[in-house]
This record gives sequence, structure tokens and C-alpha cells, in this order.
Amino acid sequence: MSESAATAAATPAKRPAGRGRNLELPEHLKAYKGVWVFIEHDRGHVHSVSWELVGEARKLADKLGSAVGVVVLGGDDEPLEKYAAEAFAFGADKAYVMHDAVLKGYRNEPFTKGLTDLVNKYQPEILLLGATSMGRDLAGSVATTLLTGLTADCTELNIDPASRALAATRPTFGGSLLCTIMTLAYRPQMATVRPRVMAMPQADAGRTGEIVQEKLGMVETQIVTKLLDFIADADSSKINLPYADVIVSGGKGLKNPENFKLVFELARVLGGEVGATRPCVQAGWVEADRQIGQTGKTVRPKLYIAAGVSGAIQHRVGMEAADVIVAINTDPSAPIFDFAHYGIVGNALQVLPALTQTFAEHLARNARHAA
Ligand SMILES: Cc1cc2nc3c(=O)[nH]c(=O)nc-3n(C[C@H](O)[C@H](O)[C@H](O)COP(=O)(O)OP(=O)(O)OC[C@H]3O[C@@H](n4cnc5c(N)ncnc54)[C@H](O)[C@@H]3O)c2cc1C
Repeated sequence: MSESAATAAATPAKRPAGRGRNLELPEHLKAYKGVWVFIEHDRGHVHSVSWELVGEARKLADKLGSAVGVVVLGGDDEPLEKYAAEAFAFGADKAYVMHDAVLKGYRNEPFTKGLTDLVNKYQPEILLLGATSMGRDLAGSVATTLLTGLTADCTELNIDPASRALAATRPTFGGSLLCTIMTLAYRPQMATVRPRVMAMPQADAGRTGEIVQEKLGMVETQIVTKLLDFIADADSSKINLPYADVIVSGGKGLKNPENFKLVFELARVLGGEVGATRPCVQAGWVEADRQIGQTGKTVRPKLYIAAGVSGAIQHRVGMEAADVIVAINTDPSAPIFDFAHYGIVGNALQVLPALTQTFAEHLARNARHAA
């Protein structure tokens, strides 16, 4: 295990003697305590990845014997205290809330200042953010401002028993290896995690916590970026793979884009979404938003049907948390059969229509009985 790459890139001025080889936590950083989560919200909705991270933060804090804090930044009229109450239900102990007109709508400068000011004042030892567009943008600028280490797109978070440092695991070398990165000589230890990589925690409506109100101390004229308008992405709500309960995925084994229609038909009958492997996206068979895997989406459906998918590690890391995986492949030694719960050795071009027809008949029968 090594010091993080991001840490290694920190300015030499702050680096301990020995060009980063002295991995002892400097005395002045030993005061850093607690596990924090940045709560991402937009237009009245908290992104579920924030709750997934509060659940992880709770586990880490329990191992460290420390508390979970959340940071909620937003405009004067936004219900930040309501989001804080939700965070308490998911396991947080404290919420650091900052209302300011310049925090309405995400912009990097005021959010970086808000978050770094809070970190410098309250000194959490771990800071987690969702690996979303907002989280990735903010995490990078906060880490570089604080001159600390950031491990992006983690798939597992733990506490190293020897050093009590955050052990952040992520794929490396094109996904063929997993590496565990620790930031030993800097604080806070930062990590981002993609939506659905961690399980959603159970909410306990009876849990409460403490709200700490803070001020930003920044005015509009200090901010270069201006928010002129919000133009919704007309396609953004069409494909919702990360939160779909049923996903039918196709791979190159389907041979051509016309055959991919068989995947869409089965997904439609099951009320699910359509996923794909990277080669299918690269060949232009389906939209890039449907790619599942290391460089695509991470999913956690109740049912994942993979047709003509080999099960390469880069695909597997995006879907192996599914409750039930059914694989259809002509090759009995395809890697996907090593981790699928049910396997059908057969031609997907025949199996998919057969499943579609059987499910359609079954559902129609159920509907007739219910009527
Ligand atoms: C840095 C990096 C990142 C990557 N990121 C991703 C990613 O995010 N997502 C991703 O998916 N991949 C990713 N890949 C690519 C990955 O390594 C694999 O190449 C890819 O997942 C394989 O796609 P596939 O299973 O569709 O195709 P193939 O590997 O070609 O497999 C096709 C499968 O279909 C089976 N088959 C053939 N005919 C039939 C039939 N008629 N019926 C049933 N089965 C049949 C074959 O036996 C075979 O197992 C990445 C690679 C790299 C290097």
C-alpha cells in the first residue's frame, strides 16, 4: 500500500522531511477527528449517493469510535435543515449547514470556499463525496486547496487496523487490478464513490442530531462564474440505470444492432432498463448512457439479465452487486458464469425471444386473475 498519487502531488512545502517517505501523521494533524459527507442536492432533491455515503461514513466512524458529520450548503431559501434531518435518520450525528445567496445552484468557487473553511475549522479526518459531476468537480478543487490526498471512484472503504487510516480501494491498470490507497501524512483523507457502489442504508426516523449553522462570508462580486439559466437535459430522466430494479443487458454476442432489439423487448415486458457492454456502445449500437462497468454506470438491480456478455472484469465491477444475475452465453466457459447466479448456455438470439414470450404470457395471466 502506498501514499496516494494525489498526496504525492501535493506541494513540497507541506511535505514532511524525506520527500514523502516519512508516513507518520504530523503532530498538528492528530487533532483531525470524525467522518464527513458532503450532501449533494439540486432543485429540492438530495442525490441518493449522499445517503449511501452517510451509511458508509457511519460504518467507518463506528470503527474509529468517532462521529459522522454532514455538510449541507445552499441558498437562503433552500430547506437545508430538512436535508440535515434526513441525514440524521441515515446515521449522521452532526450537520454543518451554510445558507447564503451565492450558494444557490452549484458553482465551484463558493462551494470550495464553504467546504474548505468548514474543514479547516472543524478538522474532520475523512471527507467523502459522491463521484457525480458536482462531486468530482468539488472534490478536486477542495483537495488541491487543502493540499491533501484524494482517491477517486472508490469501490470499497475501510479502516486500516495498523495505521487507522482510510483504506480506499479502487480499480487500477484498466480495471485488471484493485489497489488500496492510504493518505498517511495529510488530513483530511478524501475519497469519492460513484452512485450505487455502496448500499442504501436503512433510515431510522427516530434518530436526531445537532445542526451547526455557519456563515460563508463571500459576496457575488468575488465569484467569476455566473449562473445565468438552468436548461434541463431533455434526455437525463430517460435512462435511469443506476436505480433500475430490473436490467437486461446486451453484449457483442448479439452480433449486430438489429438483434439488440431483443434486449429492449425483454426489458419492456419486465418493466426494466436496457444496459450494454462497452464494445456495443463503441460500435454505436446503443447510447453511451447505457454502458455498464468501470467506465460506465454502476448498477444494483434486483435482477440483471446479461445476454451475449462475456463478463470481463471491467463490466463485472459495474454490475456484480445485483441481487440476481442471469447469464445467457453460448460458451460454457465464459467468465460471466463464474459469478452469475443462474446460467443459460445457449444462443441469446433464441433464448431472449423465448423469455420475452414466456414472461409476457405469465404477466398477462396474472393480470387476468387479478381482474
Ligand atoms: C480501461 C478499460 C475500461 C473498460 N470499461 C468497460 C466498461 O465500463 N464496460 C464494459 O462492458 N467493458 C469495458 N471494457 C471492455 C472490457 O474489457 C470487455 O472488452 C467488454 O466488456 C467485452 O464486451 P462483451 O462481453 O460485449 O464482448 P465479448 O468479450 O466479445 O463477449 C461476447 C460474448 O458473447 C458470447 N456470445 C457470442 N455469440 C453468442 C450468442 N449468439 N448468444 C449468447 N452469447 C454469445 C461469447 O461467448 C462471449 O462470451 C473496458 C476495457 C478497458 C481496457
